[in-house]
Amino acid sequence: MNPKTIALVAHDNRKAELIDWVGWNWEQLLPHKLVCTGTTGRLVEAMLREKLSDSIESSLDITLLKSGPLGGDQQLGAKIAEGEVDLFIFLWDPMTAQPHDVDVKALLRISTMYNVPTACNRSTADYLISSPLFNSDYLPANSDFAEYKNRKL
Ligand code: PGA
Repeated sequence: MNPKTIALVAHDNRKAELIDWVGWNWEQLLPHKLVCTGTTGRLVEAMLREKLSDSIESSLDITLLKSGPLGGDQQLGAKIAEGEVDLFIFLWDPMTAQPHDVDVKALLRISTMYNVPTACNRSTADYLISSPLFNSDYLPANSDFAEYKNRKL
């Protein structure tokens, strides 16, 4: 199985929940490439380093983008549009208005459009990571958007 690229993002009120989830699932996550918005990524990296012994620390593959409100959500959206993200765990906060709400909306839109498996809560993340497809070379069917691209104007 090829390593997947797994994006992990959590809003501030949900970071503890995501880090706890990473703590439960670190062994399954480790063979994969992780990409995170900045602050989430710092916390994920610290959690994984805590779990790892020095000898296998080098196997950690994590990319930290800018912090979400500072453009990290848009960087991640661009990666999704380029087909570089296989799975997305996005614990966004349904109870707090975000200064970068338009970026959050755009990120959810682009992950939906490109058919990226996306978990917005912990139980869905549990289902994704325990799916047999998680350990296979699953390629989601993507529309080529030909009808849209070739539309008559
Ligand atoms: P952060 O960004 O990980 O830098 O806090 C998360 C977000 O709001 O998208």
